[in-house]
Amino acid sequence: MYNTTRQLIFATNNQHKANEINAILGTAFKVCTIREAGIEIDIPEPHATLEENAREKSSTIYRLTARDCFSEDTGLEVEALGGAPGVKSARYAGEHCNTDDNIEKLLTELANQENRKARFRTVISLIENGTEKQFEGICEGAIDWKKNGEQGFGYDPIFIPSGATNSFATMSMDEKNKYSHRKKAVEKLIAYLQQKK
Ligand code: IMP
Repeated sequence: MYNTTRQLIFATNNQHKANEINAILGTAFKVCTIREAGIEIDIPEPHATLEENAREKSSTIYRLTARDCFSEDTGLEVEALGGAPGVKSARYAGEHCNTDDNIEKLLTELANQENRKARFRTVISLIENGTEKQFEGICEGAIDWKKNGEQGFGYDPIFIPSGATNSFATMSMDEKNKYSHRKKAVEKLIAYLQQKK
């Protein structure tokens, strides 16, 4: 049996991701980031798949803390680019690039491309009592022709989820979570953890 509020370490230093996930989790689970757990580490993402990178992050934190934890890795997969930037989404425009550089590169690559189809894919890796389990969430959508909106983070200003008319960056967190890849993966995580309560 678990306590009603169960503590999990979320293997990220990305406060945007932590805020989104806390909004989804509500009161059933309490999540702390690795910095809040007192660990200063920047875990590399050296692998060729989201699955391997997610596992790298969760297993690193499990080795350091011996506490149940989860990580996530997300990629933006653009159909006309054969699934790129995908696992390289964070470093699309180069090793030391920022979000604006990534967005600019993607818009340039798609400048004359009518096929704007894209999807966000999130893989969560949970390590519980030393055993790993993964959960996937996908949000289908399209890449806009230009940036729109100020909310969110990353590629949000140019990604329009299917069923919406404007980008993630024009939405409140609650609105983004109606469509979000991360929300879908987290819901599977919650269902898995709750079924074991
Ligand atoms: P990572 O999962 O932190 O490696 O993220 C990969 C890249 O995708 C980074 O550039 C993030 O900013 C971006 N990214 C991850 N999740 C989202 C999202 O929900 N919206 C927009 N961009 C995202």
